[in-house]
Amino acid sequence: MKDLTPNSWEARAEGASLYGFTDYPTLAERGTTVLARGEGPYVVDTDGNRFLDANAGLWNMVAGWDHRGLIRAAQEQYERLPGYHAFFGRMSDRTVELSEKLVEVSPFERGRVFYTNSGSEANDTLVKMLWFLNRMEGRPEARKILTRVNAYHGVTAVSASMTGKPYNDVFGLPLPGFIHLTCPHYWREAREGESEAQFVRRLARELEEVIAREGADTIAGFVAEPVMGAGGAIPPAEGYFQAVQPILRKHGIPLIADEVITGFGRTGEPWGCESYGFTPDAIIASKAMTAGYFPMGAVILGPELADRLFAASAEFTDFPHGFTASGHPVGCAVALKAAEVILEGADGDEPLIENVRRTMPLFAEGMDRLARHPNIGEARYRGTMGALEAVADRETKAPFAADLQVSERIANACHDVGLICRPLGQAVVLCPPFIMTPAQFDEMFGKLEKALGSVF
Ligand code: PLP
Repeated sequence: MKDLTPNSWEARAEGASLYGFTDYPTLAERGTTVLARGEGPYVVDTDGNRFLDANAGLWNMVAGWDHRGLIRAAQEQYERLPGYHAFFGRMSDRTVELSEKLVEVSPFERGRVFYTNSGSEANDTLVKMLWFLNRMEGRPEARKILTRVNAYHGVTAVSASMTGKPYNDVFGLPLPGFIHLTCPHYWREAREGESEAQFVRRLARELEEVIAREGADTIAGFVAEPVMGAGGAIPPAEGYFQAVQPILRKHGIPLIADEVITGFGRTGEPWGCESYGFTPDAIIASKAMTAGYFPMGAVILGPELADRLFAASAEFTDFPHGFTASGHPVGCAVALKAAEVILEGADGDEPLIENVRRTMPLFAEGMDRLARHPNIGEARYRGTMGALEAVADRETKAPFAADLQVSERIANACHDVGLICRPLGQAVVLCPPFIMTPAQFDEMFGKLEKALGSVF
């Protein structure tokens, strides 16, 4: 048990706060880390310890912790109009500009944007949009949502129902009508002797079977992360989206890309769907959309869904949905700046996406090197997101016993040498900020190597 000095930041943090997704017994043992400030890709705690944050906060702080341009964009907007909504025919000028910008940088020729405060709310909003427009079009039974096992779409009752993780059972979720298909993780899910192409064909057949069983006219949409994030940074099997999209099209089922993590450059293209060569019918965005400098999410509807939602809303008189801070002008100002910083280059700097593209090979090289460790079964990655999956036996892929808490031990060993990375199942997940230098990549992989050496 950690000995907590009375009145220390740690004691105070544990006195009155509740954590999300935190193992309380482990917390009591290891204590909490109270962060005081940030510098580039590093965060510094209240004792002055510095950590390279290989998770970019929660996949979102892609520009690091002291980006002057983003801070100034927020400050200036706070001076002009520090808050407003996008309701009752009123929205701020920044909101107008951001919608135009998001459609411009999206893969859609035309589209419309609806704002939320988070990725979870954006997924909820999308599902309500699909339910609403189907009902207004005279198809009230078209409500079921298809997602995948291991998918993470959020924590609200609807987005948690979309999420394919077993812990939601403790809430009695998923709600009826949320159906989880097989996770497209070839390394873990393939059957003995099954090639990657055969695996993808099996998943496509499963989709056909589910649609036949449930009835295409009862299904409202298929939502998928281009690369699964909180499921364990899992890139899909080769050709997966090319196999599922034609089936969905044939049955008139929209394909929605949840780009909350992959959006704005993580995979080396502005959108994960572009890296994987498909165009969805709508996109869910958040996280890097504001580089984490403001809590915000968005549903970006492509032309067909945008037209259908607009028509349905006009028929009903409105779309009866929205959040007090939908389209918050400070969030919009920050997101406009983030799009410039990441995709276009701001204030004479190159676009951060160029640094992602330049450092992707360094990330790949480091991951491939660690993949040779006898207790790493798979080092999977796309762009600069990835995971190292620990195994007790590389041949059989047998995991360690759950009570050994192997990934937690690796993450704790990383913490002890000044690196933050996230344990997820038996993997540790990496997704560093877009501003990392080659020397910082060396530091990250060096610390990981050291941590693996101390655990195994
Ligand atoms: N969708 C994906 C793919 C995510 O990774 C997350 C969060 O990690 C969410 C949705 C939920 O976003 P939020 O935590 O902002 O509600």
